[in-house]
Amino acid sequence: MQTIHMCDTYGQYLTMKAEIDAAMQEVIRSTQFIKSGKVLEFEKNLASYLSTNVISCANGTDALQIAYMALGLKPGDEVITVPFTFIATVETLALMGLKPVFADVLPDTFNIDTTQIEKLITSKTKAIVPVHLFGQCANMEEILKIAEKHNLFVIEDAAQAIGTEYIFSDGARKPAGTVGHIGCTSFFPSKNLGAFGDGGAIYTGDEKLAATIRSIANHGMKAKYQYERIGVNSRLDSIQAAILDVKLKYFDNHIKARQEAAAFYDENLKNVEGLEPPARVSYSTHSFHQYTIKTEKRNELQAFLQQKGIPSMIYYPGAHHLQEAYQYLGYKKGDFPVSEQLAETVLSLPMHTEMTEEQLEYIVNSVMEYFEIN
Ligand SMILES: *Cc1c(COP(=O)(O)O)cnc(C)c1O
Repeated sequence: MQTIHMCDTYGQYLTMKAEIDAAMQEVIRSTQFIKSGKVLEFEKNLASYLSTNVISCANGTDALQIAYMALGLKPGDEVITVPFTFIATVETLALMGLKPVFADVLPDTFNIDTTQIEKLITSKTKAIVPVHLFGQCANMEEILKIAEKHNLFVIEDAAQAIGTEYIFSDGARKPAGTVGHIGCTSFFPSKNLGAFGDGGAIYTGDEKLAATIRSIANHGMKAKYQYERIGVNSRLDSIQAAILDVKLKYFDNHIKARQEAAAFYDENLKNVEGLEPPARVSYSTHSFHQYTIKTEKRNELQAFLQQKGIPSMIYYPGAHHLQEAYQYLGYKKGDFPVSEQLAETVLSLPMHTEMTEEQLEYIVNSVMEYFEIN
């Protein structure tokens, strides 16, 4: 059997090698490296795929920062988000002088517990940042209802959820990240749509906001060498855009491959005692950026799998209200019990587009073997 990878970027590349190699060569030959050529083509193709405006940028972290800047959030403003996420969601708020205010997550979906949001709202609250963790959407209809009532912005951290659809209660669907005011995504190599380096994008359905975002990502420029605001330099480079543009053609199949691997895991792990497979909700599809199980014997299972040559990862081993850098927020242990408990019990299994049935069988058999003997 081939080596099992947590994420098989190279194996996936081999399935598109000729096209990707040619696209990269084309960029080199064109010398259109920055904000031209393939970058514009990819932005246009992704915008059409998502039916919204897309502004590319250097990475998903920048996408979040630019979103907060574009909405005019000011130091001291409060933004409600979760402590169980990748640090970028929280770090960018802190960098901007905004105050992250945490709501705990739900134990089954790992996403924001919307019943906690309203009591956190003060006169300083300006926005809510739901994170669509591991590829499944937070409950956006509940979030939008609260946001409308209190006049708040909604910025979706969709870094892990490109390829996911939000399903409204009337059955209508929208791509994750296009439901709130702004959506942010990442093209980090291991993400659902991964580059061979860094990349990110910001989505918005609002044309005026799109123009503001474009200006901020380009030094606050209005016309050449005229600056209408303070901006940043955050660009997707053309070689990454060329790679992403090839991958976008196969993206629906890649998401399907992830969902099929997840369905295999679900089917074979659902009756294993001592382990909980990831919950599915009615209001979202799942793109399975990660396939994350919960078990009280997490560390022991991880060690057992490692002995069998099966990699696994802990996303995330700590909740951010307990991180050293965020002690100034004044939270303490016990404030977000679900996030704290998840940090002790979650384990993500290998998940990518190139998993073979043999590998999947070996993984579930090994997991079952662990729980039979322990
Ligand atoms: C990956 C990720 C980011 C940041 O993306 P980068 O491209 O690595 O900067 C932000 N939020 C979440 C939830 C992520 O998973």
